[in-house]
Amino acid sequence: MPPAAAVRSADCAQERLYVTRPYLPPLEAFIPYLQGIWDRQVLTNNGPCHRDLERRLAEYLGVDHISLFANGTLALLTALQALRITGEVITTPYSFVATSHALLWNGMKPVFVDIDPVTLNLDPAAIEAAITPQTTAILPVHCYGRPCDTDAIQTIADNYGLKVVYDAAHAFGVQDAGGSILRHGDLSVLSLHATKVFNTFEGGAIISPDARTKRRIDHLKNFGFVDETTVVAPGINGKMSEINAAIGLLQLEHIDGVLAERRMISERYDAAFDRMPGITVVRSDAARRNYAYYPVLVRPEYPLSRDALYGALKEADIHARRYFYPLISSFPMYRGLPSSDPARLPHAHATADQVICLPLYPGLSHEAQDRVIAILSRAAGAA
Ligand SMILES: *Cc1c(COP(=O)(O)O)cnc(C)c1O
Repeated sequence: MPPAAAVRSADCAQERLYVTRPYLPPLEAFIPYLQGIWDRQVLTNNGPCHRDLERRLAEYLGVDHISLFANGTLALLTALQALRITGEVITTPYSFVATSHALLWNGMKPVFVDIDPVTLNLDPAAIEAAITPQTTAILPVHCYGRPCDTDAIQTIADNYGLKVVYDAAHAFGVQDAGGSILRHGDLSVLSLHATKVFNTFEGGAIISPDARTKRRIDHLKNFGFVDETTVVAPGINGKMSEINAAIGLLQLEHIDGVLAERRMISERYDAAFDRMPGITVVRSDAARRNYAYYPVLVRPEYPLSRDALYGALKEADIHARRYFYPLISSFPMYRGLPSSDPARLPHAHATADQVICLPLYPGLSHEAQDRVIAILSRAAGAA
């Protein structure tokens, strides 16, 4: 019997590639954090790691008030509750389902409007056209970390008296010309899930504009408790544990390296795809980007359909993902809504049918990346 390694190389078995892989700091570096938690025996409820992470994240992101959560979905649910939003909320069908689920779970009615075909974010003109007397808020997504048209959205919100909650799950560390993208709207919500740029395994956060709002959110995420005997609201348990907060503190030491590596990989893809016929690179125009995803649109001119390319990648053990396909408005709990009519969402549907997100994560080797590039180039060259 040949040794296993020889069998593997004889089979030409290649590393299986996924669209992302969570970044993990060195395990040894985490042990002292665990020791601290064991020594203190404070496991949750705004412990020292939690307080420290809130302070350091606010500093890193350039925002004043941040409340940590157990995950981004609980943060979204709580943000909507904190602003006492009711009725209709205008949102995008081109996102992860949690965006709209947070509305349904809160008894609110999602109203889908179309995206801009270039930015893939909500089209402000479409937002304005969808406003009714029942509209109370807008829930936009900084899709792939590309900033929404925050000025236009704020103008509409001011004119019609609407709240704005940004689903900023993709936008950790992103800045526009004025600073953090998280300063816009009434509240912004981050996800710190394993698959996101900055992860605490599971985690989320709400960025508030002032201390009073942060206080309300901090009460809501802890059952509504203000002190031992006072409950001021029907809150939820949204608290982040000390273990997750400790991981966040350690991740923060590595985030600049993670972002630099993401940028390098992203620019290598750009060089390969910028002039490839039929492939459109979806690129952010942010002043500071986070390279969270590498989405490309497979146009009709490309020799393969998006799904055929997806299949060709899969055959080579490269597991790219069609984010975001299907659209949220196509799922059974949404498709009966009048605003889910595909005729009203032409750009969202066209994009969902063309998009594919390629592998992008720290640790993706040049060789692995070249396998991805080769498959797209080979098909393009065959035209
Ligand atoms: C990841 C994500 C969420 C949900 O965050 P969790 O931390 O997984 O609960 C919400 N919205 C968008 C756009 C996301 O990508």
